[in-house]
Amino acid sequence: MTPSKDDQRTLDMVLHQMDRATEKLHLPQSLLAIFKECHRCLTVTFPVRMSDEDVRVFTGFRVQHNLARGPAKGGLRYHPGVTLDHLKAFAMLMTWKCAVVNIPYGGAKGGVVCNPKELTPIQKERLTRRFATEISLLIGPQRDIPAPDVGTDAQVMAWIMDTYSMHVGYSVSSVVTGKPVDVGGSRGREDATSRGCLYALAEAMRDQGKSLDGRSVAIQGFGNAAGNLARLLPDAGAKVIAVSNSKGGIFNPSGLDYRRVAEHFHREGTLEGAPESVPITNEELLTLDCDALIPAAIEDQITEENAGRVRARMIVEAANGPTTFEADRILEDRGIVVIPDILANAGGVTVSYLEWVQDIQSYFWTSDEVYERLRRIMTESYGAMMEISRRHRVSARTAAYMLAMERVAKAYEWRGIYP
Ligand code: NAD
Repeated sequence: MTPSKDDQRTLDMVLHQMDRATEKLHLPQSLLAIFKECHRCLTVTFPVRMSDEDVRVFTGFRVQHNLARGPAKGGLRYHPGVTLDHLKAFAMLMTWKCAVVNIPYGGAKGGVVCNPKELTPIQKERLTRRFATEISLLIGPQRDIPAPDVGTDAQVMAWIMDTYSMHVGYSVSSVVTGKPVDVGGSRGREDATSRGCLYALAEAMRDQGKSLDGRSVAIQGFGNAAGNLARLLPDAGAKVIAVSNSKGGIFNPSGLDYRRVAEHFHREGTLEGAPESVPITNEELLTLDCDALIPAAIEDQITEENAGRVRARMIVEAANGPTTFEADRILEDRGIVVIPDILANAGGVTVSYLEWVQDIQSYFWTSDEVYERLRRIMTESYGAMMEISRRHRVSARTAAYMLAMERVAKAYEWRGIYP
């Protein structure tokens, strides 16, 4: 299949960042050649009984980018637009994301070409169990540990865990993460990405000699990542002055009241008209005068066209790929600090790792214990990234890739190339 423009852009973006990091790291070309390919790509086609009369054939994939630092880790996506090339790019990103926060995994990604909204619960369960069986060639608690992504959730993870467990004859909760707490999920998983992002933001402020107290933050989005950030930030002292969704946003320079906005949103299904707010467009949100801008919705939002008008003092990328290459250069020239996605949104995979550790030891932590471990990992990773950024005079993004690639390169140095 020829890559679509989007797949190609994601892959180009990752490869471009790897090239920039390599220039500074002086890695051998042979290692870069290894990093630029995915280690294993499994394509499966399988039938699913949709009803007594109807059987449909689905295509699914599991891609493992690199296993040098440990088992593969990455989400499973159920979406009509899933392609192998898209998954390859995301598997690569996962390798660097895991390495930047120093958790012992390589990157993976997988998915099934389907529209989960058109599947009944029983069809979705059958599809999941059959897909789990097909990819059991690769997955396992010490081999490859899937997690939820677009179109999949805790229920899908529970079905995969059950299917795998039935095959081996005993319960193996550590084969997937993002499970319900009742079957070995971790406390604190739901808002882990947002909490991780909050810790990264707090560190970035501290670097500039500021605390979060009274800082104004504009958040693009109001889904899982953005909504939880809008809830958590005021508790940490910051003022959330704007949020949005695909239809547009709302603004209050004195700070939005999260509870009232969420109530309004759940009641009316729209942000517009929320108490004590005025409507703004997504474009206006991105150029608001604020201490921090957190794009937490979709990719390619800060572009060559609007980067010159961004008035935030820093950008923390909760979303994956919200800033284009061209925009990145403009922001860098303007001295606006960008905390890159591979660090800023790594809280989710970090708590996935903590879930796996708890499953393996069969001993579970309280939410506070999970948050404290997450905070320590995010803070240390932020510090390591910024130390490289200062030492090599590179952007935080290039530094994050340098840190990640150097860690994987070290694993190769010690392990050597087999045979
Ligand atoms: P979500 O589907 O829960 O929310 C997405 C939000 O974006 C919604 O509020 C939606 O209305 C909004 N949106 C969609 N199109 C938009 C547009 N054109 N303009 C403005 N807003 C728009 O998704 P999520 O889980 O919150 O993920 C958001 C981003 O964070 C994605 O890039 C995702 O890859 C990244 N991320 C999420 C997690 C996680 O644990 N949820 C982890 C890592 C990275």
